[in-house]
Amino acid sequence: MSISARTVIASICLLNFAVLASAQTLPPNLPSKEQLANDNKLFVFWANKALKWEEPAEPARIVGPIYFVGTKGLGVFLFATSEGHILMNTGMPSSGPMIVDSIRKLGFKPEDIKVLINAHAHIDHAGAFAFMKTLTGAQLAVMKDDVAAMESGDRNDFKYRDDLAYEGVKVDRVLRDGDTVKLGDVLLTAYHTPGHTRGATTWIANLVVDGKAYVVAFPEGAGFNPGYRVAKDPSYPGITEDYRKTHHMLEMIKPDIWLAQHNESYDFEGKRKRAETQGVRAWTDAEGYRRFVASKKRAFEDQVDDELGANNATK
Ligand SMILES: [Zn+2]
Repeated sequence: MSISARTVIASICLLNFAVLASAQTLPPNLPSKEQLANDNKLFVFWANKALKWEEPAEPARIVGPIYFVGTKGLGVFLFATSEGHILMNTGMPSSGPMIVDSIRKLGFKPEDIKVLINAHAHIDHAGAFAFMKTLTGAQLAVMKDDVAAMESGDRNDFKYRDDLAYEGVKVDRVLRDGDTVKLGDVLLTAYHTPGHTRGATTWIANLVVDGKAYVVAFPEGAGFNPGYRVAKDPSYPGITEDYRKTHHMLEMIKPDIWLAQHNESYDFEGKRKRAETQGVRAWTDAEGYRRFVASKKRAFEDQVDDELGANNATK
């Protein structure tokens, strides 16, 4: 596959260079950026394939009670406590059995999951909530502005309409900015960071492990997909302000460790490998987090400039 084709996939998925290496197996008949922006099903088909959303992965312990139980491309996290567990995200609709296998492999029981939480209501993170809820009977807690999307299975999405729908699931608890989810000795705070979806949620865990305090963040909401309109003829009214508010919030926090819903965005594989010898130190990456937020902000402002024609004016 040519470098230019891989670059297109990388730019449309807002990825880093690690992904270029992992996209080796893509066939050469890659659609154009415009096709991917206009054809929702095509976009998800290619992103899924390039980023291995539906390929099983080995589970891993990150730090203290936090475990990775996702797929090769998607972040799904288990917070294991003595009073039951919290599960963040569920990946694609096909991911349920993979998550269950990973949880069992770690020595935990999926049936002990008491609370389900989410980063945002798109199919690649919310696809298997119905499956997990049926299996566990856990309570689902969702940020207010994503409740309708979760319950309908993301029908009537501002970009994807019904194209990327999944099985909807009843929300048991409606969250607002700053609300907390507590189980055992795990305390998670939900921050409303809209833009990518109306109810996108950044989660922050404050942990003490072996006498050391860690702030662990799961930043969310700042990414935009092909075809999103963030300034001119906006995808939804207020999206520009939402993104800027989210950038501001993400800049304010200073996590020691950051994890994310797409593995390539924080070099999950690299950190996991280094953790074999370095332990928790491999996951601490305050500088990487700062760079991540700066890159999201820059990409957004470039998109605003493009939509408003500012770049053309200076050429
Ligand atoms: Zn999404």
